[in-house]
Amino acid sequence: MSNKYFISGGTLDDGSKKNLFISDGKISGFENPANSGAQVIDATGKIILPGLVDLHTHLREPGKEDSETVLSASRAGAKGGFTALSAMPNTSPVADTAGVVEQVLRLGVEAGLCDVFPIGAVTKNLQGSELSEIGAMADSAAAVRIFSDDGHCVSNPAVMRRALEYVKKFDGVIAQHAQDPDLTVNAQMNEGVISSILGLKGWPPIAEEAIIARDVLLTEHVQSRLHVCHVTTAGGVEIIRWAKARGINVTAEVTPHHLLLTDDLAASYDPVYKVNPPLRTEKDVHALREALAEGIIDIVATDHAPHPAENKECEWQEAAFGMLGLETALSIIALTMVETKLLDWKGVAERFSRAPARIGGYAHQGGELNVGEMANLTLIDPAASWRVDRNLVASRSRNTPFHGMELPGVISETFFRGVPTLRNAELVQQLNSENSQ
Ligand SMILES: [Zn+2]
Repeated sequence: MSNKYFISGGTLDDGSKKNLFISDGKISGFENPANSGAQVIDATGKIILPGLVDLHTHLREPGKEDSETVLSASRAGAKGGFTALSAMPNTSPVADTAGVVEQVLRLGVEAGLCDVFPIGAVTKNLQGSELSEIGAMADSAAAVRIFSDDGHCVSNPAVMRRALEYVKKFDGVIAQHAQDPDLTVNAQMNEGVISSILGLKGWPPIAEEAIIARDVLLTEHVQSRLHVCHVTTAGGVEIIRWAKARGINVTAEVTPHHLLLTDDLAASYDPVYKVNPPLRTEKDVHALREALAEGIIDIVATDHAPHPAENKECEWQEAAFGMLGLETALSIIALTMVETKLLDWKGVAERFSRAPARIGGYAHQGGELNVGEMANLTLIDPAASWRVDRNLVASRSRNTPFHGMELPGVISETFFRGVPTLRNAELVQQLNSENSQ
């Protein structure tokens, strides 16, 4: 099989129209050489972005393969336009040693559909007290640079300070899940009018904002680097704005779902809307969109959190926190940020590929679409739309809050190292569904 491709007639994220000739995994030129034997892909009307890079993905393997595997998440990623995923460490066992991060790295290479960059736990078994083997994970084959206890907050300030100091040695970053545990005991949804009406225990914005404020001050004090996971409140945005103006080395992410959905959806008592951190208010959604447009929030990250049906199709109180994200992320950004003219495609490429690649230090990701660059690309049809069907996802789980919605922006192909991966993922999915009939 030829591994040469000629993508013709597409528009790059900077608005220029260029053909791309791909061979040996790289962008090799802008013309199709005579007798190249390249497979021609008509990209007329399509936008070509550097492949999307997710800095926050729960791939669930090892240990929770009923929810997702590295392979199924990689397929979901390919369908969603991703060429890199970052594996959160809250697996079983927890990725708090060199052995586990190397295992996740290996599973990613075996799946072969995108880069899978392991994130290491900050503390042993995510328990918040003793630092994990941060140095060994950094020195391992996985060369871990991002550390996070995501799902849990590193709430002890002395532990957080030591972690921030430790990662300075190798320009690492601590990605904090900002949630004060004492302010959110048994919390179920955003604290506000809706939570009072529904009688569900509230999750106050201050529980997130107090940790962000503390952490930017700690980061300044030890001159380290902080990344704030999934910001959800207008107040959190203001603290990050203040910290950046002060020169503190902080970056932040927002999820697609927090850019669209609000806490009133909980009135359905459908746990598909139960997520950590919780959906907030219209005012917060507005502030988050503006902050992403402005660059106060640097990136979009999915927080893709698959769960099996028994953990989501149950009573709200008993249900697990989390939503699928990979297959719908780009379309939600098209809906909330591009159609509203808050971002153009160059802005999307920056927020969803180049900036996350810089934060993670990911080689060959988030590049300019130049000759000699690794061909990690996403082709989008911006004029097309599609209907989300939870029964047709590549993920092993079905907990998407967007089921039934008609969304703009169709990923028409994803190239990982010069190989089209979306069609591979779809082919496998088709085979699986035929086998199960
Ligand atoms: Zn989290």
